[in-house]
Amino acid sequence: MQFIDLKAQQQLIRQKIEDNIKQVLDHGRYIMGPEIGELEEKLAAYVGAKHAIGCASGTDALTLALLALEIGPGDAVFTSPFTFFATGEVIALLGATPVFVDIDPVTFNIDPALLTPAIQAVKERGDLEPKAIMPVDLFGLPADYDAINKIAEQNGLTVVEDAAQAMGGEYQGKMACSLGALGCTSFFPAKPLGGYGDGGMVFCDDDELDRMLRSLRVHGQGEDKYDNVRLGINGRLDTMQAAILLAKLELLPKEMEQRQEVAQRYAEMIATSGAALTPPQVPSGCASAWAQYSVLAESQATRAEFIERLKAAGIPSAIYYPKPLHLQTAFAYLGLQAGDFPHSESAGERIFSLPMHPYLAVEDQEKIVAALAGK
Ligand SMILES: *Cc1c(COP(=O)(O)O)cnc(C)c1O
Repeated sequence: MQFIDLKAQQQLIRQKIEDNIKQVLDHGRYIMGPEIGELEEKLAAYVGAKHAIGCASGTDALTLALLALEIGPGDAVFTSPFTFFATGEVIALLGATPVFVDIDPVTFNIDPALLTPAIQAVKERGDLEPKAIMPVDLFGLPADYDAINKIAEQNGLTVVEDAAQAMGGEYQGKMACSLGALGCTSFFPAKPLGGYGDGGMVFCDDDELDRMLRSLRVHGQGEDKYDNVRLGINGRLDTMQAAILLAKLELLPKEMEQRQEVAQRYAEMIATSGAALTPPQVPSGCASAWAQYSVLAESQATRAEFIERLKAAGIPSAIYYPKPLHLQTAFAYLGLQAGDFPHSESAGERIFSLPMHPYLAVEDQEKIVAALAGK
């Protein structure tokens, strides 16, 4: 059994992928070929954003968004400690300071109720200037943007959505990637819309931000190719990846429906299995993109038992994320410690993810849940 089955998907569109790759080989525009603009246009329409800017990875998408906002030393960016390392990394890499805010223990996303006090505390300390909030749509579930955007507005902050896992997710009738001033996603192969290599995209409605992002992804290029008006990065999306993604994009709406069905089945099966596990909860008005199906055990010890049972039955599982960012060695300089973000720490000790993809068969899910229940 596969944790994520990319082969099943490939079989459905293999010819289309090969045709698209052949087109790139024929026209030879490997850098910024026509497939990039086509993908940008289609994805902007899909998520409901005015602009889409393809880039080299989800990490670059976040970097470009922060660069476009001119965030740097002395600036504070509020984010979740319960996420993939890149979220906090890009903030610190630009010289800004990540200010962690604990998660809601039910959704695993940043808790808006803790945001205002965190912003207030930074303002009172006076050593950093609050600039942005970077919520993470963890496992594909959008964070609580009505509350977050309101707090951002009250405090003059910009919201940068880390939607690396959330392409296809929904929040109150809007699509993930369009929920902040800037939305960032990743096309890493295992993400809901994955290529066959690295890739990413930034979304926004603001024309000026769009111009900045397009310049920043090519070394801060100005009007002319050899005119550099700011410092940027080499952050372009490859034409080849765009060609592959165009083929995969055709499957995305259907795959999102299939993911909902798989998640629904898991929830029902787990509820009646007798296994002491809490399945993921989706707040009303939201749809997760189900990048991961993550369940909570009652303790670290029972989690180890569940994972052992799965392993004995030949079923892969994963732990996202065992160590919150504030406890990572790279962030030791922030002076944070165990106990600072109890919900993130508790989730890190008890959470694990089950196989999840649009082509997961009912029989496989039955096998997985039977193994969890010790049957
Ligand atoms: C995957 C991921 C990223 C980084 O994306 P890459 O394409 O791997 O650079 C950033 N944030 C989160 C939450 C992610 O899951």
